[in-house]
Amino acid sequence: MICIPVIANNLDDVLRDIAEASMVADIIEVRLDYLKNPDLKRILEGRTKPVIITNRPVREGGKFAGSEEERIALLKLAIQLQADYVDIEHDSIQHISRDTAHGISTKLIVSYHNFKETPDNLISLHQKLSQYGADIVKIVSYANTITDNVKVYRLLRQARGRVISFCMGEYGMISRILYKRFGSYLTFASLQKGKESAPGQISIQEFLHTYQAQRQDKGTDIYGLIGNPVSHSISPIIHNTIFKEMNFNSIYVPFKVDNIGDFIRAFRELDIKGYSVTIPHKESVINHLDEIDPTAKKIGAVNTVINRNGELVGFNTDYKAAIQVLENMSQAPDVKTGNDRLKEKYVTLLGAGGAARAISFGLQERGAQVTIVNRNFERAQSLARDVGCLSRKFEDLSGINTDILINATPVGMFPAVHETPIDKNNLKPNMLVFDTIYNPSETRLLREARARGCRIVGGLPMFVNQAAAQFELWTGIKPPLKLIEEIAFKKLVGE
Ligand code: NAP
Repeated sequence: MICIPVIANNLDDVLRDIAEASMVADIIEVRLDYLKNPDLKRILEGRTKPVIITNRPVREGGKFAGSEEERIALLKLAIQLQADYVDIEHDSIQHISRDTAHGISTKLIVSYHNFKETPDNLISLHQKLSQYGADIVKIVSYANTITDNVKVYRLLRQARGRVISFCMGEYGMISRILYKRFGSYLTFASLQKGKESAPGQISIQEFLHTYQAQRQDKGTDIYGLIGNPVSHSISPIIHNTIFKEMNFNSIYVPFKVDNIGDFIRAFRELDIKGYSVTIPHKESVINHLDEIDPTAKKIGAVNTVINRNGELVGFNTDYKAAIQVLENMSQAPDVKTGNDRLKEKYVTLLGAGGAARAISFGLQERGAQVTIVNRNFERAQSLARDVGCLSRKFEDLSGINTDILINATPVGMFPAVHETPIDKNNLKPNMLVFDTIYNPSETRLLREARARGCRIVGGLPMFVNQAAAQFELWTGIKPPLKLIEEIAFKKLVGE
């Protein structure tokens, strides 16, 4: 079930938010601690969805400013008025015994909140809280790292009875989204951005639309994006929409990962079916997988991981995706090069990271003459040695013979959209300019290249190709390219 908290500070706004939330939520939580002079009778009469009454003290992360007696009295009144649920903190539950609730249908939630960390002892904590005789135990903690979610997962797998549990904070977001798959009785989503009652709470719109999270059950396959940052990625909306359209019982979530080794080790327990990998883990993830596809090994970067019966296998879909884009954009085959459109083309590639590695190996394979230019020149030299091509410094750019210029650096990417990796005087009218950045869809580099008469292509077609290849590797089924293009375009340009 999805619960929307109402945190308005006056009765009119509370009643308005309850009415709005009732259209999408299964349960509404009314936070009395945000509200001045709460009129419980008005709040509860005429409700169309079950209501949880909560009156959180400051010590448990709430805002109630009155005395403890006043706070408890309001909760007792909620029980008398037959609220559907009353949330009572673990250190106050003795004030609301079963006798208080005798003969009344109100369900009691005994709750524990930890805003600092996710302790290791969640299971013993649950055992302790279960002894209070409440109908539901709620244990909510703060995630300081992505692996804290695994502690909640273990708790929910082992605990008997009804349990609400998830992690707060940005690192804990996945436990909120995957609540049914993990086994939590309910999860919380805000009515809209800005109306969150706790850190890391996502909006109901994001929950239902980006994650299609209402479709999950205990058997749903989990996929996700490993990276840092991951919050602006459009991969979740793309893969979740395809999963829905193609009727897969699967969900795709963002994993914000600091330590790739710890993450891969800890999440094997969750049997994640596949990963996308992005900045900064494409190279370092290789050391933590069971097998690497020979091409990805040669490239030295993995952007896709498949789980084959527990064995994690790494692939690279970036290189084919980029080469496809360049082949489509290159002129029709001429007599000299036959069908190979990139053969003997002079390519200047800016960057020497994961994307540049993939693209340079692909180009070399197609017979292009590649020159790598990178801020850190040693890194350019090292990649050029691995690939068997040339390397030059940024200051030499004007002297490099270039048919195709590729930007594989993040310079010009959102939010620094005013930046560009090179001076526009280096752009010549006969060049093809490919910027791998897809947000924004047209970068400053591309705008300047267009103005100087170059043919241009942005990162979106590459992104679409690599996402489709990833989906096919995970599921064995080709997804509709048109749909991926539409979702990506709407998300990037339509917003
Ligand atoms: P990465 O491994 O972190 O490499 C980043 C590269 O950019 C490095 O060579 C780095 O140079 C260079 N760089 C970073 N900041 C710079 C700056 N301020 N000035 C000059 N050079 C700078 O990242 P990646 O995975 O290769 O991604 C690079 C770009 O490719 C990103 O913009 C990403 O969006 C894009 N990409 C697009 C797609 C797609 O599907 N369209 C797929 C993959 C990647 P140093 O070595 O000097 O640090």
